[in-house]
Amino acid sequence: MSAQVATAPVVIIGAGCIGSAIAYHLGRLGIRGAVVLEKEPFAGAGSTSKAAGGVRAQFSSPINVRLSMLSIAHYARFAEEMGTGPVFFQVGYLFLLSDPACWASFQRQAEMQRGMGLDVRTLTAAQARELVPPLDVGDVLGATFCPQDGLVSPHEVTQGYVARARALGADFRFGCPAEGLELSGRRVTGVRTASGVIACAAVVNAAGPHAAGVARWAGVDLPVQPIRRHCFTTQRVAFAHERLPMVVDMGSGVYMHRESGGMLLGLANPEEPPGFDTSVNWDLLERVVEPAVHRVPALEAAEISGAWAGLYETTPDHNAVIGPPPEVEGLWLANGFSGHGVMHAPAVGQLVAEWIVDGRPSIDLHSLRLERFAEHEAPAEANVI
Ligand SMILES: Cc1cc2nc3c(=O)[nH]c(=O)nc-3n(C[C@H](O)[C@H](O)[C@H](O)COP(=O)(O)OP(=O)(O)OC[C@H]3O[C@@H](n4cnc5c(N)ncnc54)[C@H](O)[C@@H]3O)c2cc1C
Repeated sequence: MSAQVATAPVVIIGAGCIGSAIAYHLGRLGIRGAVVLEKEPFAGAGSTSKAAGGVRAQFSSPINVRLSMLSIAHYARFAEEMGTGPVFFQVGYLFLLSDPACWASFQRQAEMQRGMGLDVRTLTAAQARELVPPLDVGDVLGATFCPQDGLVSPHEVTQGYVARARALGADFRFGCPAEGLELSGRRVTGVRTASGVIACAAVVNAAGPHAAGVARWAGVDLPVQPIRRHCFTTQRVAFAHERLPMVVDMGSGVYMHRESGGMLLGLANPEEPPGFDTSVNWDLLERVVEPAVHRVPALEAAEISGAWAGLYETTPDHNAVIGPPPEVEGLWLANGFSGHGVMHAPAVGQLVAEWIVDGRPSIDLHSLRLERFAEHEAPAEANVI
């Protein structure tokens, strides 16, 4: 047992967009002195810094639609609430469908999303091209478009949360890894660091791709795997205007949006093995460029300007795990966002803080409980990119 050096009402492990948003919302609910441990020298150094910044509510699972709608409401007032510059640009998401079954499924989903109050439009291929003229829609059967979707700046968002959380009394400790958990029976009572134990009533696992290792300290088997994902960027292109929507071609899986006057291109590699490698695999470039040029022929002339790779924190059903694990008291999981963490951070920040402070979140998160995997009750999110 290590010497106790401090106490805190709550310790959050990880200062990415998720941990920072939770710290801010705890402060808003009156919790002073929450400690946020971050192993890196600054906030958002993990997956958050690698995100493409997409924010959308067009999901197949109602819980993801709900989380996104709550997040979008937060993002729409973020600059005013946090005192930052603009961070959210509602340019919309355009999904292109070229497979009959997929198109039928997107039309059904659009009905479900509209029923939840989302403004989702189903478009013909010609209407999609009116929205984004450089598209080749020769093989497109239809499209969906939601103008409330858009793009955020993950760095600005995280820094905004950190600054406001600090003003509300949170204590961010950078370069300070959590090294283990203290347990009394099945109750978590503190977090071990190199300088001793911080005793606390609640611990939040917000460790992103490292979440499974943190959960293991409490004997919890959390199926979150790190999977490398890439983004490639191009030099400036004439058609990349400020209102250009995010385009997702569900046929090939390639997605693209405006980035610094050029385009950001992404495509998941289905053969990527789990692991913590974040070096760029340039062999993937051709596999991304080919479907991107097929969809937007004008990209043929664009030069690649850069690339980076980061880690998705992936669960078997591509849905997050949020809430206390069974049989362990004092621990909250906010993990496994499977490519949706930045877009869900505001909602998760609010809901986890409510859960800790009020005893329950204001939105039912039952479908995101950890037990679903053991109960074999985990309908997967279909719209993963
Ligand atoms: C290429 C790419 C594109 C993406 N695009 C999008 C997108 O368009 N939209 C979207 O919503 N999401 C996107 N994502 C996913 C998104 O980046 C993540 O879901 C999100 O950043 C997760 O946030 P987090 O705070 O949980 O994790 P992280 O940002 O990884 O934060 C976790 C933090 O915990 C720290 N940590 C870990 N272990 C410890 C420890 N023991 N002690 C102290 N600190 C610890 C880490 O250093 C890290 O800073 C993308 C991801 C990638 C890789």
